[in-house]
Amino acid sequence: MGNETVKVAIIGSGPAGYTAAIYAARAGLNPVLYTGSQPGGQLTTTNDVENFPGYPQGVNGPQMMLDLQQQAERFGTKIYYSMVTGVDFSVYPLKLIIDEKETVHAEAVIIATGASAKYLGIPSEQKFANRGVSACAVCDGYFYRGKDVAVVGAGDSAAEEATYLAKLCRKVHLLVRRDEMRASNIMQQRVFNTPNIQIHWNTETQEVLGDDNGVTGVRVINNKTGAISEIPIQGFFLAIGHKPNTEIFADYLELDEAGYIKVQPGTTRTNVEGVFATGDAADRVYRQAITAAGTGCMGALDAEKFLAAREAEMTARTVKV
Ligand code: NDP
Repeated sequence: MGNETVKVAIIGSGPAGYTAAIYAARAGLNPVLYTGSQPGGQLTTTNDVENFPGYPQGVNGPQMMLDLQQQAERFGTKIYYSMVTGVDFSVYPLKLIIDEKETVHAEAVIIATGASAKYLGIPSEQKFANRGVSACAVCDGYFYRGKDVAVVGAGDSAAEEATYLAKLCRKVHLLVRRDEMRASNIMQQRVFNTPNIQIHWNTETQEVLGDDNGVTGVRVINNKTGAISEIPIQGFFLAIGHKPNTEIFADYLELDEAGYIKVQPGTTRTNVEGVFATGDAADRVYRQAITAAGTGCMGALDAEKFLAAREAEMTARTVKV
């Protein structure tokens, strides 16, 4: 790695990044992929992935990401355990700063930097990560069948996760920090009409409680009365929003008001020629491994088409001269 120019640089190592790498490598584009600070991405924080088609018995999240990495490497992807810390998309070839020191130029860039679930920021939440604390009901809800769980949040995600979990769990405690929900009316009605969801208004989490086997409860405080109580649960779900990892692109790419990269509908093309956005960094709605992989594939195909068109244009110019 140094002051070189590569054909395709992929930023990020979740399902979008590795799928883009597999397609780009098989197309002979010799991609390089920068993993970022969490190689494998969000799926490495999940034990069992049971909703990715093709794994009838489910697959361990970190193992799945290793498999994807090996598949990308098998076709010649160069993988660097480095962070892209800055970009300059006002120049061409496009410029990437690696680990704050090295510079790499790329003829096409595929962004697959993902998003991060927001957490409350209390130590007990980290202590029980993967042992009862989850930020994805669709991923992990199944493990709490017939059990009691809590969901924190009051937006559409929280309403959706609570109603999803209510189908699987005995009881869902929805912890809402104000005396109203932000979720859309229809989603709120769904929550209100689900008998096994209990809403705790004006309620904030103080501590996730647990033992060697995982989560056993949550200690909450009513911010109106100051009353502290403990709710026995086995699963604690965060649904307080996600943050796309797109800060380093903000000076060049059009982002929506929440920071997701805007793409031309039905493609991965951004407002900068040669820059393609895939996966959760550009998806505030679906945010699934399979949809991320799908857009990763699209990113590689869009990049390939872009490079081929550019090459054809250069050849035509050379012939004219
Ligand atoms: P939002 O930002 O809309 O909501 C976050 C919620 O979490 C808010 O209610 C907020 O409370 C609460 N919250 C934030 N921080 C804390 C904290 N520290 N403690 C307790 N509660 C906290 O995020 P969502 O993920 O719900 O939604 C993001 C976007 O995606 C929205 O535009 C939404 O409409 C959309 N979406 C649409 C869906 C659909 O249509 N099916 C499904 C899911 C999402 P407060 O209200 O007090 O600020």
